[in-house]
Amino acid sequence: MPNPKRRHSKSRGAKRRTHYKATKPSTAECPNCHEHKLQHRACPNCGHYNGRSIMMPKE
Ligand SMILES: [Zn+2]
Repeated sequence: MPNPKRRHSKSRGAKRRTHYKATKPSTAECPNCHEHKLQHRACPNCGHYNGRSIMMPKE
């Protein structure tokens, strides 16, 4: 198995990782209260999911 002869410097690894970017979580509009919420999650504003209330919203 071929192996690297020398380890890469810290700056070389950091330069490669400049392309790693954090992305925003995709949001969807709640059909009940029209707030932005995470997809496939109950709405934190009104506690609705799939057309019905499944939990009490946080005060
Ligand atoms: Zn909602």
